[in-house]
Amino acid sequence: MRTLYVKFIVITTGMMLISFILAFLISNTYYHQKIKPVNDQKNTKIALSIATFAKEHPDNNLIDYLENVSGIGYQMYLVDSVGNEHSFGEPFRDKNLPNSTKKRVINGQIFHGILQFPRETFVTGFFANELRNTIGVPLEHNGKNYALFIRPDIKFLFSEMHVLFGWILLLAISLSFVMVLINTKYLIKPISTLTKATKSLASGNYQVNLDIHRDDELGQLSQSFLQMATKLEQMEDMRKEFISNISHDIQSPLSNIKGYTNLLDHDSISSENRTQYVSIINSEIRRLSSLTKQLLLLASLDRDEDIMKKKSFNVGEQIKGLIRNYQWAISEKGLMVSYSLPDSEIIGDPALLETVWDNLLGNAIKYNIPNGSIEISIEEKEKSVFVTFVDTGLGMSDKEVDRIFERFYRTDRSRTRSVEGTGLGLSIVASIVKLHNGVITVKSKEKEGSTFIVELPVK
Ligand code: ADP
Repeated sequence: MRTLYVKFIVITTGMMLISFILAFLISNTYYHQKIKPVNDQKNTKIALSIATFAKEHPDNNLIDYLENVSGIGYQMYLVDSVGNEHSFGEPFRDKNLPNSTKKRVINGQIFHGILQFPRETFVTGFFANELRNTIGVPLEHNGKNYALFIRPDIKFLFSEMHVLFGWILLLAISLSFVMVLINTKYLIKPISTLTKATKSLASGNYQVNLDIHRDDELGQLSQSFLQMATKLEQMEDMRKEFISNISHDIQSPLSNIKGYTNLLDHDSISSENRTQYVSIINSEIRRLSSLTKQLLLLASLDRDEDIMKKKSFNVGEQIKGLIRNYQWAISEKGLMVSYSLPDSEIIGDPALLETVWDNLLGNAIKYNIPNGSIEISIEEKEKSVFVTFVDTGLGMSDKEVDRIFERFYRTDRSRTRSVEGTGLGLSIVASIVKLHNGVITVKSKEKEGSTFIVELPVK
């Protein structure tokens, strides 16, 4: 079966057919167990009352009487002891009945042919127009013995109502089949639309338009599909931007290095210029080296591998060590650093967390004003450790704060002031804090300064 549509129709029709067969079999059993004995009794009673009437009215013409009775809806067969036979009403299709049976009835026995009729379906039982499928009763008239076999004429039973019921059944089956066809189309249509949209998405077109407005599971699926398409488009945009940023950030230091090495090649260059050019080349090499290191770190954080090597360590000691490393940069800018760093043990990856503090302290120095100040503190509250960096630097607008954790994002101010940086530091910080199940929050005001708070669970 090729399409879901065909499959659905075949399965539903199959189910309708199976339920029809089951209903037929169950009603068949019901006919044999309940209706057949009642039918036999009912007809035996009627046959006996016909025989009694005939016996009690010897002056009546038997043939006329039976002819009259058959007219109200019975098939009858009369046989006497010498084998003379007579049919009344609709003749029997099959008159096969052993002579011994006929004899036994003439001699006074009742023949329950309806009850004994083979246990086939009620279609072949109830409707079988055979002499075997009758009730046989002894009949005495005018001193002569007969056997009277009788059964209701099914043609009479099939009144207009039965035909009407037949039509209703046929109509119900045809209508339900047509409804299955229409309903299936309605059910399957959104799936076909989704399939088309998936193909279009796979070929790179993210602007999918799903015209599916439903509240059911298919409606929810289309909603999720649209969300997925939007997310994929955003990721694709991010990927393109990421590549173009990397290319730019690698290309520009390389061009600078190339330009300054060309200048160094001239013999007429003064030793003062030479020193300046070498220092620029060195700074560009440092930038490239830090960019590749950060990219490698981001790649390993992205891969979500188990890169964390957790252990218990003293975070206060770690930050004090970092401040010592930055002493030269701090004094050069005339900054005041005050701190409250008690010994505080946490469990985490010391190398990764050192990168976090390094970035936050580095930024607090880089984006500070000359003679500004920095405050660093550690506080333990309940089950968390809060590490806070407050600076009196350039600060940021709310819009900028919203974007600083994006890869390669740098505020215009940090670009124009040509502060060294790649725009990757804080995105790395955010990934590491997340890996430690921590939270980073930022409060900042332009020209006043910024506060970065890292909350880490102790255990
Ligand atoms: P960068 O390599 O540019 O420092 P980061 O990801 O560390 O990259 O920071 C992103 C941007 O956020 C910076 O370019 C800067 O504009 C802004 N920023 C970060 N820290 C501070 C701070 N303490 N004060 C003001 N601006 C900051």
